[in-house]
Amino acid sequence: MKIICIGRNYTDHIKELENERPQEPVIFLKPDTSLLLKNQPFFIPPFSEDVHYEVEVLVRINRIGKHIQEKFSHKYYDEIGLGIDFTARDLQAKLKAKGLPWEKAKAFDGAAVVGAWISKSELPNVDDLNFQMKKNNEIVQSGTTSLMLWKIDEIISYVSQFFTLKIGDIIFTGTPAGVGKVSENDILEGSLEGRKMFSIKVK
Ligand code: MG
Repeated sequence: MKIICIGRNYTDHIKELENERPQEPVIFLKPDTSLLLKNQPFFIPPFSEDVHYEVEVLVRINRIGKHIQEKFSHKYYDEIGLGIDFTARDLQAKLKAKGLPWEKAKAFDGAAVVGAWISKSELPNVDDLNFQMKKNNEIVQSGTTSLMLWKIDEIISYVSQFFTLKIGDIIFTGTPAGVGKVSENDILEGSLEGRKMFSIKVK
């Protein structure tokens, strides 16, 4: 399986990192080895002094597809999740400044947290989902999918022009504002539409 991530999909987060608003979705990949194993803590990697959490709504692909038309995108997923796109921000800043790929900052072991899944049929509208993340019991990020620049169905269509989507692939749909640094012993808890989706300890 592969993990496909969308960057800069919420205006408020684009502003906080002083990034340019993209003309089309920013895409990057994480390998399957970046998945944080279930019930395991997240270990801050030794090559970064500034690892950030980014809470994101996830989509799990349930059939194979390429060149998917947007009007058919809804047929390619039936579960929505929540996760964290961990980012070594200091390393990413260096790579960005040189115009180099971000993988070392985004695709390292443990950098993809995938929480619980909710059937789409239990959710009223995937384009209007509320989600939030708490760090040590304080809300640090809260968002709604209604504020995405590119909605889930648009993302699936766009991404499938470049990559064949396969069963089990996961799409990270971008983060709203409020990203920040993690420190040892932090507890990160995510919820979607009031349901607890993950709880991660940082070590
Ligand atoms: Mg992200």
